[in-house]
Amino acid sequence: MNTIVTRFAPSPTGLLHAGNYRTAVFAYLFARRNGGSFILRIEDTDKARSRPEYEANILEALAWLDLPFDHAYRQSDNAARHREVLEALVAADHAYVSKETPKNPGDRTEVIRFRNPGGAISFTDLIRGEITMEVGDLGDFIIARSFDEPIFHLAVVIDDGDEGVTHVIRGEDHISNTPRQILIQRALGFARPIYAHLPLILGSDRTKLSKRKGAKALTEYRDLGILPEAMLNYLSLLGWNPGDEREYLSREELISTFDLARVQKGSAIFDETKLRSVNQRWMRTLSVDDFIARGALSAPDADRLHKAVPLLKERAQTFQEAREMLAGELACLFKEPLLDRNILIAKEPPGRSGMTAAALSSLLAPIEALAGAGGVGMSVETIRAALMPLADAEEARGKGGRGAVLWPLRYALSGAERSPDPFTLISILGAAVAISRIRNAVAILEG
Ligand code: GLU
Repeated sequence: MNTIVTRFAPSPTGLLHAGNYRTAVFAYLFARRNGGSFILRIEDTDKARSRPEYEANILEALAWLDLPFDHAYRQSDNAARHREVLEALVAADHAYVSKETPKNPGDRTEVIRFRNPGGAISFTDLIRGEITMEVGDLGDFIIARSFDEPIFHLAVVIDDGDEGVTHVIRGEDHISNTPRQILIQRALGFARPIYAHLPLILGSDRTKLSKRKGAKALTEYRDLGILPEAMLNYLSLLGWNPGDEREYLSREELISTFDLARVQKGSAIFDETKLRSVNQRWMRTLSVDDFIARGALSAPDADRLHKAVPLLKERAQTFQEAREMLAGELACLFKEPLLDRNILIAKEPPGRSGMTAAALSSLLAPIEALAGAGGVGMSVETIRAALMPLADAEEARGKGGRGAVLWPLRYALSGAERSPDPFTLISILGAAVAISRIRNAVAILEG
């Protein structure tokens, strides 16, 4: 049996979105699953619209997703070969130079057309099954604008044939192009590859995912702090499933499970909410050090940053969110809070002036005792167990309730109306910093 060869053939005429890369993922997985090779072909035959920055973006995106190709080239690298084949087609009378009547100024007066034999073309698509299309209506279609300007249909067939591509895996929007390409293949005596046209990907509004309607370039997800393993996992499940309940699959699991037979016919929805939750799951699997490194997280105090990672894992779905949390709600972990006396006493029960300062002072001894017990004493749970009874006692007195203690404590530690709970704050700040912040609050109250 021939070695399997697949290719990803993007046109560098715009920034490609996630849906475009789903095609690359399937072609890559199928090749790897079968010990075959995966080729990248930049289809830059449309010289007017192809741009180097789009090509660079494709390479960046594939590098980020880590879809290594065995071979990469630009379609324009094959210009001499395209010309040679075109001349042979004309010499064999499969194609001819056609005189055209220009419709608009600047239109060509000559193009090269394929001599269409007409009839029906049938092919078996691995996903859609048997497809038959009448080709007579297409007439003698154009395959080149000049001997040096082949159009897409011709260039694709030549390159796929020369590269020994065995499986053409591409979007369903190319089904209608396939009969034309098969006609050219036949005329050239090339073997027919196996076709697998992938279902469309729709946006959450159920219309075709497109840049025009705001679909992000894949690299934007990288910049938002989506992990490539999460994106790979998510993209592979757009129109395919492993045949069991698994939702989280690593690259190795995908490679060992992927097959084209389970690609669905119906379109798939690209759902950013789902992508984010898949990403959160992959973020949570990272060790603390990896989490910080891969999220490019930084903060003025490395030890506190390490201790804040569980909080970030709990709440952030992307690394951008993690960075925003560090700059926002968690900034209090790294800088001394500026306290407002009125906010400190906001929950002080009426008629009990001095209660807040006394309550805060009463927390100092238990915190010191925990610190004295060594690092083990400073877990969120032990801190809660040591301090909660003091808040409970206040609750028993009625009026202010636990909040009369917990509110000023949390505010003294964070200087913010929104922050993690005080026990978590103390465990991250450490006893010494927590005590100094509480003392500072007491001083403000008593000052
Ligand atoms: N260059 C084509 C595109 O970007 C793909 C052609 C193919 O896969 O055959 O849609």
